[in-house]
Amino acid sequence: MPSVTEIEIQRNVPIETWFDIGGGAERLARPENVDDIRRCLEVDPNLRVLGDGANLLVDDAGVDELVIKLDRGEVCDVCFDDENCRVVAGAGVNLPKLILETIRRGMSGLEGLGGVPASIGGAAIMNAGGTFGQFCDVASRVHGVDRSGAVVTLERNQIDYSYRHSGLGNLIVTSVELKLRRDDPSKLRAKLKDVMSLKKKSQPLGESSAGCVFKNPTLRGYITEIGPPGARVSAGLLIDRAGCKGLKVGGARVSDRHGNFITTKRGATTADVLALMEQVGKKVEDKFGLRLEPEVVIWRRR
Ligand SMILES: Cc1cc2nc3c(=O)[nH]c(=O)nc-3n(C[C@H](O)[C@H](O)[C@H](O)COP(=O)(O)OP(=O)(O)OC[C@H]3O[C@@H](n4cnc5c(N)ncnc54)[C@H](O)[C@@H]3O)c2cc1C
Repeated sequence: MPSVTEIEIQRNVPIETWFDIGGGAERLARPENVDDIRRCLEVDPNLRVLGDGANLLVDDAGVDELVIKLDRGEVCDVCFDDENCRVVAGAGVNLPKLILETIRRGMSGLEGLGGVPASIGGAAIMNAGGTFGQFCDVASRVHGVDRSGAVVTLERNQIDYSYRHSGLGNLIVTSVELKLRRDDPSKLRAKLKDVMSLKKKSQPLGESSAGCVFKNPTLRGYITEIGPPGARVSAGLLIDRAGCKGLKVGGARVSDRHGNFITTKRGATTADVLALMEQVGKKVEDKFGLRLEPEVVIWRRR
């Protein structure tokens, strides 16, 4: 068994997120494969996994657990089986780049996830998606390492996927097998273009954010002009109707373009975003009696 000293650990490294705020990692490692991940687990069994940082809000004081970033080596490999329309993608593979490559090869299934910044591991954990489909529609098998260092393979039917939820818990995802369908690249390109233009119209894509900060809630009772009991409704619409668009705390602001996006500017802090989320949550609860649940993952210093 190689020594734990073989994994290089960097000290006091900024954690890059799409919010572009928050503290850093006291310790960061970049494992390339399962053996490296096991070495990292020996260093810190409570380690945190950083994907593309697109759904992450990090405590201003940073985190003291080991942070691992899967951005090189085997965990970034992709293997295409064109004949059977299957892909095995490492957890560190960039989803938007993979979407373009699958389209080029005439493989359909990922194009509905256009405009979702993510690593494959992050997309699997979050079950990323939206109006045009979700990651679990195409993820047929997930490979990972559990906290004891054991390699785990989970079939689609063993994973508790639901809206923005995978139940994969503490698993460190190392790769995902995707089952796609054959289709005409020009048709897929047109679909991606439609998805992207819709997002450009409705989201503040030029600003720093983590996408939607709250999950879309399910209504318990009828709410006039919002929906019937049991309907999953847009948190953005509720936030807008509660009069929160444009609300600000420090450098954090509820977007005018999309009520569920909080944007940050230079100098903003994680504390600003959390305080704003609390204000928004309270206003929505006061108006509709509904408690919004964060979609963004918050790394608090323990
Ligand atoms: C402009 C913008 C638009 C967005 N639009 C959408 C959208 O339409 N739909 C949507 O669902 N989301 C959207 N998001 C949010 C984000 O893109 C998704 O949640 C995405 O899945 C996050 O992936 P990530 O790799 O960045 O994960 P991160 O943000 O890095 O991490 C998220 C969580 O996943 C865990 N994680 C990451 N990789 C692994 C791994 N290999 N093993 C175990 N755990 C891991 C992290 O520990 C963390 O708990 C948007 C974000 C932005 C900034």
